[in-house]
Amino acid sequence: MINYSDIREYVEARKEFCASLVDTALETAGQRQDLNAFIELFASSARERALECDARIAAGTARPLEGMLVAVKDNIAMHGRETTAGSRILAGYHAVRDATVIARLRDAGAVLLGRTNMDEFAMGSSGQTSAYGPVRHPFLEGYVPGGSSSGSAAAVAAGIVHGALGTDTGGSVRQPAAYTGTVGMKPTYGRVSRAGLVAFASSCDQIGPITASVDDNARILAVIAGRDPADATTADVSVPDFPSAVTAGVEGRRIGLPAEYLDDRVPEDMRSRVRAIARRLEERGAVIRDCSLPLTRAVFPAYFLIANAEASSNLARYDGVRLGTAAETDALHDRYVHSRSEGFGREVKRRIMLGSRVLGGGHEQDWYGRAQRVRRLVREEFERTFGELDLLLTPVTPGPPFRMGERLADPMDMYLTDVFNTAANLSGLPAISVPAGKDAKGLPFAVQFMAGAWREDLLYAAAGAVERLHGGEASRGDASRGEASRTEKLG
Ligand code: GLN
Repeated sequence: MINYSDIREYVEARKEFCASLVDTALETAGQRQDLNAFIELFASSARERALECDARIAAGTARPLEGMLVAVKDNIAMHGRETTAGSRILAGYHAVRDATVIARLRDAGAVLLGRTNMDEFAMGSSGQTSAYGPVRHPFLEGYVPGGSSSGSAAAVAAGIVHGALGTDTGGSVRQPAAYTGTVGMKPTYGRVSRAGLVAFASSCDQIGPITASVDDNARILAVIAGRDPADATTADVSVPDFPSAVTAGVEGRRIGLPAEYLDDRVPEDMRSRVRAIARRLEERGAVIRDCSLPLTRAVFPAYFLIANAEASSNLARYDGVRLGTAAETDALHDRYVHSRSEGFGREVKRRIMLGSRVLGGGHEQDWYGRAQRVRRLVREEFERTFGELDLLLTPVTPGPPFRMGERLADPMDMYLTDVFNTAANLSGLPAISVPAGKDAKGLPFAVQFMAGAWREDLLYAAAGAVERLHGGEASRGDASRGEASRTEKLG
């Protein structure tokens, strides 16, 4: 993988030229077309931008992300570019303006390299529901890279870009980050603007960075975070200096190990790895405590009801008239039916049907209303917890990365790969996934930290500490072919 922090000093010393960085990235992307990580590469605009970056550097006016190569999930609007959310129904739709996060990245000097493949409308956990075909894992042959920000995670893990934007509605940044040995941040709800994001479940969606290192992740979040008049749900809270938090350490931090995230659904090997990390952090001054979050078992069902209800409502606009590719029929009703039947894939249809059921037929109070009450209770449980603790440490997923084709026959089995991620979305709290070596079979292993609202700084401090335990870059998944085949044999 490639790390922007490592080259930043060269960028400033003018030894490395952004134009050559872009050429190398495009070459690597060409060699790794097998991954299907990109739907589109922006070769010519990236080259132009790189020349501007080089001019800025030469003039001594480099901005915070000058020359950083960033890939963007295909559900985030970039002016004049196609934005399809991995769906046939949006094929040919060109964004009329930049999403706020994109405008901020451009202003900070980032070079946008392309848009990445994803599960259709961000519904999925494996990168296999895209209308553009599945995304492959960059160094575990035959495995999924996780999802739904599959292409973003794969592009970073394959060493094509320094960073990528993903979106996390119920784990879609953290789970693929965990599977690919990258760092994935889901910020506090309202920290990052959703203006220009194709909505899935509006009350859960957040855009977050996926990177090779914790420091790069903090650099990107520092740029994209903050109040945006174009998104009324963004909060007017100050954005701390996230990069400086990365080296703050965990001394005196109270870290809880919630029993419900370490029960026998999780393989013993993973549980003992999480506990081993807790012990290492204790040696570095953290205070480790066992704790309990009894409402955990209600989190996933509540998330699932709310997310699908909101999705069915958000996706109503793709009817071939207001938005979406129109089917060739004359009668209006037929046009709706055919446009949606042909435009949406199987998983999206399943979610729309579930969501419509939850909201319709007089069942609103039975299902949606009850899920909202659970949501409030879960929030309160976390508020109490973060009154006594600074951080929670958990596995990211209940099991290791899985193979392509697995879990497809059983949707519930697929959904449950995110069972430890959805609490952060339901409660609006920030959470990070950070690589923590390999498991007993040599597959990437990662841990998740959660913190109270607006405390991404604590997450970066803890993730930075874990990264240092594992020697940073060296122990993370290496995208080189040699390592890939070694890992595969062990797996
Ligand atoms: N995999 C989860 C789902 O399909 C979460 C998706 C997401 O975070 N976008 O609902």
